[in-house]
Amino acid sequence: MENLRQDLELLYELQEYDIKIENIRNSIDEAPSLIENKQKELEIKRLETEEKKKNYVNLNSLKKEKDAILDAKEKTIGKHSLELNTVKSNDTYKAMLLEIDKAKADKSVIEDEILDLMDKIEKENKIVKDSETELKEFELKIKDEIAGIESFVKKCSDDIKKIEEERELHKSKVNKNILGQYERIREGRNGQGICIVDGESCGGCGMVLRPQLINQAQKCQELIFCDNCSRILLKK
Ligand SMILES: [Zn+2]
Repeated sequence: MENLRQDLELLYELQEYDIKIENIRNSIDEAPSLIENKQKELEIKRLETEEKKKNYVNLNSLKKEKDAILDAKEKTIGKHSLELNTVKSNDTYKAMLLEIDKAKADKSVIEDEILDLMDKIEKENKIVKDSETELKEFELKIKDEIAGIESFVKKCSDDIKKIEEERELHKSKVNKNILGQYERIREGRNGQGICIVDGESCGGCGMVLRPQLINQAQKCQELIFCDNCSRILLKK
């Protein structure tokens, strides 16, 4: 039955459009999670930079504390030095000198600590600056990548529209009854309702077909379906 063979060939061509559309739709469906991943990457980078800034801020406030202690020590030394002039007893004088020496020793330790902190702050400042520069570059990169995904989605949608138009044109050539069966079958079968007999197997599910079925598909006098996946079989 040449007509049926022709109908099936046309249906098979129609399916090519459907598969193309399905594949493009799958790509579109992946886009939101791709974008979400990009945003997560950026968020992680932002948090890393924030963490570095925190280190820098902490070191600075530590230095302020040390500065205040140093200031207090200097005041103590100044005060006691003045008091030395007015002290009457020798013991008090000695005790005062000891106090001054102790404050001076403390001051020296704190000064060293402050120098050490200043060194660390300078290094940390560079780390923060570098991290901020890196973050800015990364932000641009991610923005670009997201824009790329969005324009890809836009292109995909345009492609689908074009293919759907072509499909509509082609559909008018396909036998309505066969088309109806095809539509029913392809639901839930990855969009594939007709398949080629591939050697001795169904090209859709891979199941080995009964020889009689292959024979019938070859003759093409009626619609033949795979025993396993129920797809329409076309023997080329
Ligand atoms: Zn099958």
